[in-house]
Amino acid sequence: MDAGSIPATSTNIMKTINFLKCTAYAVSAFLLMFAAFVAICIIDANELSATVYKTNIETLPAVAQEPTRAGNWKSTPVVIVCENAPVTKEAVDRGIKYWKSLGHYFSSTQYHHDPMNKCNNPEPHGYIIIKLVSKEVLADMEDDDLAVTYFFIENDTNEVTYAKVYFRNNPLERTLEHELGHALGYLHLNEPGHMMHHSRTRGGWKSSGLKN
Ligand SMILES: [Zn+2]
Repeated sequence: MDAGSIPATSTNIMKTINFLKCTAYAVSAFLLMFAAFVAICIIDANELSATVYKTNIETLPAVAQEPTRAGNWKSTPVVIVCENAPVTKEAVDRGIKYWKSLGHYFSSTQYHHDPMNKCNNPEPHGYIIIKLVSKEVLADMEDDDLAVTYFFIENDTNEVTYAKVYFRNNPLERTLEHELGHALGYLHLNEPGHMMHHSRTRGGWKSSGLKN
């Protein structure tokens, strides 16, 4: 027998090892998904859900001490406040200033100025779009949801490519800052007084873990 050939019994052992490995991976993947599912159910069961986010990300850590950032922006985003958005220029400027003070970058803010019609683009790459809720978005919201942010992340690179923030009404205190946080890729953190707390009334201005 030359050095390169493997006896039949070794092949069988390797096959068994590979089978066991695959089984172990499948079991771990299932357990991870189950843990994420349980975590989401627990978060959902909390009272006073104020704002929501919808994203395409595939994995979510079950427990976090600091707000998880699901992705970083691929390019420096441009913010557009669309025509009917119930947001004042002062409010959006304040929100942008808050995140800039934490080291985040925005290339510009366009208030009611959308020459490339990004407000109606389903995938406005490179932009954070702020809009009034549409009928379709409203169907996705609970009665007590103040706003919803959709953000898209490239799953292979963890880069945010675009975000759309929908407001039902003129945002209450901190809501615009909170939604911009989602647009920057941050998820919720169950810490009282924190900016990324899912409930506005239980949240606050705490910004730990939000520095860029
Ligand atoms: Zn939120």
